[in-house]
Amino acid sequence: MQTQHPVIVVGAGPSGLSTALFLAERGCAVTVLERNEVFPSDPRAATFHPPTMEILAPSGVTEELHRRGIVGPNWQNRDREKGVICEFDLGVLSGETPYPYRLQCEQHKFVAILREKLADQPLVTVISDVDVTRVAQGSAGVSVETNKGAFRASYVVGADGGRSVVRKSAGISFEGFTYQERFLVITTTHDFSANGYAVSNYVSDPVEWAALFQVPGNGAGPLWRVVFPTRPEESEADLLSFENARRHLKAFMPKEDGYEVVHTNLYTVHQRVAGTFRKDRLLLVGDAAHVNNPLGGMGMNFGIHDAANLAPKLAAVLLDGADDAILDRFDRQRRFAATKFLQAMTIQNKQALEETDQEAREARQQQLRETAADPVLAKAHLMRTSMIEGYRASLAVE
Ligand SMILES: Cc1cc2nc3c(=O)[nH]c(=O)nc-3n(C[C@H](O)[C@H](O)[C@H](O)COP(=O)(O)OP(=O)(O)OC[C@H]3O[C@@H](n4cnc5c(N)ncnc54)[C@H](O)[C@@H]3O)c2cc1C
Repeated sequence: MQTQHPVIVVGAGPSGLSTALFLAERGCAVTVLERNEVFPSDPRAATFHPPTMEILAPSGVTEELHRRGIVGPNWQNRDREKGVICEFDLGVLSGETPYPYRLQCEQHKFVAILREKLADQPLVTVISDVDVTRVAQGSAGVSVETNKGAFRASYVVGADGGRSVVRKSAGISFEGFTYQERFLVITTTHDFSANGYAVSNYVSDPVEWAALFQVPGNGAGPLWRVVFPTRPEESEADLLSFENARRHLKAFMPKEDGYEVVHTNLYTVHQRVAGTFRKDRLLLVGDAAHVNNPLGGMGMNFGIHDAANLAPKLAAVLLDGADDAILDRFDRQRRFAATKFLQAMTIQNKQALEETDQEAREARQQQLRETAADPVLAKAHLMRTSMIEGYRASLAVE
């Protein structure tokens, strides 16, 4: 099958649809190929950081996210035994960004917003139910093999998630590691804000840490997601049972009338970065290029930042005859940020939560208290954890 479009994006998740939108806004025609016919609505990412809201604002997506989302002006560090250690007020970022807060909105709603925007975009065609099985490139273009026949394009963007066929076809490495323990994500109707919790909370504990955050839900009031680590020997069926989920929540915070659980999800967590984000006519964005644990809510944001970096460069090559060496700059900029910020910070976030050495844990908590209490230190901490520092640093890479 021949596509008239110079770019094929494989994968209609957050990264692929963002790439398509940003390319089309620059006048570049795109075909998006997506395996699923129905878009998944299971709980995945839900946090939007300031640079992501800035990136998505010109397309009108940020406004839509605000309409459907919840603003989190601050977040808490807690100890499971001692309670609140400190609270960070994102308001200190007000001189740096028009969005000095986190916005909570479920990933599937974000994908729906992107699809609505793309429906009005004559330059973008999204084709569902197409499974890409292999990509092969030559000097003149790329052939994309699928269950519905072959497509051709000048460039292919692999936005096809952690198991990316595009990355594997190109023989690009995906170095890193997989955590032994999976993460259990429980969604409950219990409103933890009644117990003094902020919209996002990180609770350290040497045995069972937790992360709690609020999401808007589907009209019947906000929901809360609680993330716990699990033991490798625990069976999937046991872990996913609502009874187990209620037990976990009760052990975390006793509650006389019990918890209403609406969803459980078990999630294998990796820390990996692709050896390159560009191989000639193949480019990688999002989870296809990097995967990380969800502590800090950065993975989906980072994929959108990849898209925002790549789209103007690829459009310049295709529409303005720019030297394609600028695509190597995309690789250098985004791989630098993925390694030095995304991987470093998410690995550190998990280590801080699970620290078993009491002295080290207390020293870390004291440091957090002092950081939160000092406006200069707090701002530096929030610049980093809100992804502003990493995003800006990536743009400075030549
Ligand atoms: C189960 C699960 C739970 C998660 N939970 C959290 C969380 O709690 N917090 C957090 O921050 N992050 C979480 N994440 C990570 C977050 O969802 C990702 O970072 C984000 O989805 C990345 O977006 P993406 O577009 O790069 O990839 P994806 O969202 O994976 O999208 C890839 C798309 O490509 C399509 N595709 C794949 N292969 C092919 C193919 N061969 N042919 C055609 N189409 C293909 C897929 O169907 C999919 O639509 C979770 C991820 C998963 C899988």
